[in-house]
Amino acid sequence: MEKCLTKKYGYAWDKYDSEDLKKVFELGERYKAFMSECKTERECVEEMIARAKANGYRDLDEIISENVRIKSGDKIYANNRDKALALFMIGTESMEKGMNILGAHVDSPRLDLKQNPLYEDTDLAFLKTHYYGGIKKYQWVTTPMAIHGVVIKNNGEKVKIVIGEDESDPVFGVSDLLIHLSAEQMAKKASEVIEGENLNIFAGSIPAKTDDKDAKEKVKGNILDILNQKYGICEEDFVSAEIEIVPAGKARDYGLDKSMIMAYGHDDRVCSYTSFEAMMKLEACAKTCVTLLVDKEEVGSIGATGMHSRFFENTVAEILNLCGGYSDISIRRTLSNSKMLSSDVTAAFDPSYASVMEKMNSAYFGKGIVLNKYTGSKGKAGSNDANPEFIAELRSIFDKENVSWQTSELGKVDVGGGGTIAYILAQYDMEVIDSGVALHNMHAPYEIASKADIYETMRAYHAFLVNA
Ligand code: MN
Ligand code: MN
Repeated sequence: MEKCLTKKYGYAWDKYDSEDLKKVFELGERYKAFMSECKTERECVEEMIARAKANGYRDLDEIISENVRIKSGDKIYANNRDKALALFMIGTESMEKGMNILGAHVDSPRLDLKQNPLYEDTDLAFLKTHYYGGIKKYQWVTTPMAIHGVVIKNNGEKVKIVIGEDESDPVFGVSDLLIHLSAEQMAKKASEVIEGENLNIFAGSIPAKTDDKDAKEKVKGNILDILNQKYGICEEDFVSAEIEIVPAGKARDYGLDKSMIMAYGHDDRVCSYTSFEAMMKLEACAKTCVTLLVDKEEVGSIGATGMHSRFFENTVAEILNLCGGYSDISIRRTLSNSKMLSSDVTAAFDPSYASVMEKMNSAYFGKGIVLNKYTGSKGKAGSNDANPEFIAELRSIFDKENVSWQTSELGKVDVGGGGTIAYILAQYDMEVIDSGVALHNMHAPYEIASKADIYETMRAYHAFLVNA
């Protein structure tokens, strides 16, 4: 009778000895360092490529140009426009038997500069933004922001910009109205308290020195002078730029016991980073193992760097070709026989907002990687809905490796919902399940994750790559 009772999901903290705890906190330190440096999809991809190369990974384009055969044990990366990345370790078995794939996304909600951003109003300079992804706009005001991005000049030169992370850098921000004059604003709906068109970045207030008595917009002129001196760019260059306004500052320990991490962009770099570490730890594999980190998830997985792009399929075709086994049927078999942990963040139970959660099917901080059989909203619409046969295989793998895991739904039925990239890969007829790390404050400037969950998730990914 006893052993037929429902599994009691325990706290990972309870099983750790001092050696385990050391590893949990060491991973926390590595993750914080990564999150403090990598705040855009491009910065994530650049850093991961550098680390992968140091670990023996080679550029797929280089291998194609050499036209050499690849073999089991080879480590390859494919870079999609510096904004998405696929890492492969070729297994000893035929790729047609399927790959073990970890997928996550490296884009995060933020404010993007518009194409014509810079303007002056009442002798103050501002940058206009268009927010990216689903945000509660009122959370993004009166908090220090940094500018990260690239400007591509019309000669093709790429200029990287990071302002606001060094202690000596200025920071930026979006203003809010003082409480003393807010009677009208405070009566508005939360979605209208701060309007999208008012998310303007305050950029300066000193007018340029000039002998021209009729000169207009001198504060804007001064900002353009500074940008030109520092980066060699002109106002028109904003047209071919991707500049992201993100929360400034480093990822920090959270809580007196330092059990959690507060950072910008846990969604979904917490799954991306742990997938990447698990992949880098692999020494050999039977099935070909893949880590796929995509862009544009927060806006519907669109575009050449989003999951809907053929980039991944094309890359698998190239790799099959270099293995000497490419055919239309071989790529179909390779994809349809594959298994995937499609990883994204989910909601951790928050007692302050218990009314939107269903306690029996919520994720909890410290209970490990979360499996979401389905996501979606209003009757699972838009979800992947993983097959129980696959879930059974994962339970078995995780239990064998003593990985802490739990299951959840995002919230109560009919309260809301969300989507991920899982359903897109499932179109290849492969086994896919949503999984990942539970957060508080999802999509806020600073999100919270448990170090135990980060550690267990990394272990779960490694166990999946080796055992699935
Ligand atoms: Mn996400
Ligand atoms: Mn998200």
